[in-house]
Amino acid sequence: MTKIEAIFASAEDDTFEAKYRALCHCNAVTYEVSSDPVDSKICHCKVCRTLHGAPMQWAAIFHKHHVRITEGINHLNYYSSELNKYERSLPCKVSCSLCGTFIADEGRNMWLAFPSLFDFGVPPSVPKKFKPTCHVFYSMRVIDINDDLPKWSGHKNKSMQL
Ligand SMILES: [Zn+2]
Ligand SMILES: [Zn+2]
Repeated sequence: MTKIEAIFASAEDDTFEAKYRALCHCNAVTYEVSSDPVDSKICHCKVCRTLHGAPMQWAAIFHKHHVRITEGINHLNYYSSELNKYERSLPCKVSCSLCGTFIADEGRNMWLAFPSLFDFGVPPSVPKKFKPTCHVFYSMRVIDINDDLPKWSGHKNKSMQL
């Protein structure tokens, strides 16, 4: 557990000011972020689609030191889709062991949060900084999207735009 806490904002860090709060379906896992996301993307790749059981995945990216797990750190499950193993080999998927909600994709430095878990009110009022800036792996899409955002065939800035 100390290893996990060491890379996130510490619970004792008085300078940490929660800006947004996220929670899993069963509320066992909650976390806070102290900043706006550095980017926000919609991914159409097969791994995201399969694991999330959804046509696409919306991720907002934060530095891990702007993230603080507030509840349920002992309920976090880790899954490496590269190794096909339940282990915290970064990058990996993080989920709630009780309800199965995917919490985030954890990278070495970054935390790819799923804004769908954020508490934006009812009905949700999504801050501008969370609005997706592009679609990635759009060549893998199962649903066409009619918006003005750039659509990359693979990774952003490292593939062709479609
Ligand atoms: Zn849960
Ligand atoms: Zn993906």
